[in-house]
Amino acid sequence: MGARQGVVVLGATGSIGSSTCNVLRRHVDRFRVVGFSAARRAEALDLLAIEFEPDFVVLTDTPENSHTPNWTGEWRYGSSALVDAATDERADIVVNALVGSAGLEATLAALQAGKRLALANKESLVAGGALVVDAWRNGTGEIIPVDSEHSAIHQCLAGRPSDEVLRLILTASGGPFRTMPAGQFATIRSADALAHPTWDMGSKISVDSATLANKALEVIEAHLLFDIGLDAIDVVVHPTSIVHSFVEFRDGSTMAQLGFPTMEVPILYALAAPDRLSNDFEPFDPVRVSPLEFEPLRRDAFPMFEIGLAAGRVGGTAPAAYSAANEIAVEAFLKDDLDFLGIPRVVESVLKSWDGGPADSVQAVVAADAEARRRALEVVGNRPGHVGC
Ligand code: NAD
Ligand code: MG
Repeated sequence: MGARQGVVVLGATGSIGSSTCNVLRRHVDRFRVVGFSAARRAEALDLLAIEFEPDFVVLTDTPENSHTPNWTGEWRYGSSALVDAATDERADIVVNALVGSAGLEATLAALQAGKRLALANKESLVAGGALVVDAWRNGTGEIIPVDSEHSAIHQCLAGRPSDEVLRLILTASGGPFRTMPAGQFATIRSADALAHPTWDMGSKISVDSATLANKALEVIEAHLLFDIGLDAIDVVVHPTSIVHSFVEFRDGSTMAQLGFPTMEVPILYALAAPDRLSNDFEPFDPVRVSPLEFEPLRRDAFPMFEIGLAAGRVGGTAPAAYSAANEIAVEAFLKDDLDFLGIPRVVESVLKSWDGGPADSVQAVVAADAEARRRALEVVGNRPGHVGC
């Protein structure tokens, strides 16, 4: 067996970051941690550093002089250190588990440096669009998706070309409000949205799953990853999250990938593919997961899905604007500055007047992201009934 593969985990203290560490812990013979990053100093991060002995740890939001670490290795500070981490020559694999468009530069840098990018941070792909795809296709780097649906599709496709595919069918749990009458949505508080029925996730993606913005981001993500037209990507609600997605081939064969919902399976796959490493997961049990149920998406009740698809069809900087405006709306919702119905209102109002423009440079995407945030904040501040500014 050759040298161990070096891994950088960006966003190591989050939900995906912690699951990644669980996977790495079981495979120390195959992987070695080169670096971790987190936004803030946390006891958990010091403990990870002590356990995994990385070459460095990055803190993006914590100033150096406010930090007295327990781990005595190399600490780096500031968000520019993310790009250095993603391109470190000791790393073979970069796990991008950051949240939001903050991960864009790291995604691009990792691909340009020829790394395997285990991509959880879907917002960076959606915002960067063709820029990210070009960095991938024109270079020696590669993207292996961590998102469970895309991992499923990647495994079902097994490298077959997109012209053999008729349709992708992404599954969606439907989120915590799958069966709630839309008339009651005004009563939803952030704690309700954070209680996801099948997945235990970070707060931003939990809210995105509740509004179905997550599924719109995932349709665009699938379109970019697998080179399949947006109109050939369907979504079906599957409340128990056992079937992670389907690929329908033109010869009439439809493939699916199944498993109990744990992100450790797609993370392990993204790290090791095409190898299948052994693991100690609960054995799959078809009887226990029976019956598998599917139902249509309630598009009328969840406008964030349609708004996102529309942004995907417009293309250019519109997906970046959708994603950035959504980040602002979700932040405001989590602080109880915006109600649940306010999320689509804010994002739609930003997108309605969006004049597009090509997403042909990092500067163009970063500028669109900033402008969408500015407009979204304005709408959040101006909403009826708001007090304070
Ligand atoms: P999380 O909030 O639990 O963790 C985010 C991590 O990134 C933390 O370590 C945090 O310190 C760091 N971070 C956050 N904002 C940052 C910033 N601006 N700059 C630098 N570091 C920052 O998030 P999560 O649920 O693990 O999600 C991570 C990504 O994976 C998201 O893009 C999400 O959509 C995607 N994803 C998550 C899941 C899941 O099960 N949690 C599933 C599929 C996809
Ligand atoms: Mg997903």
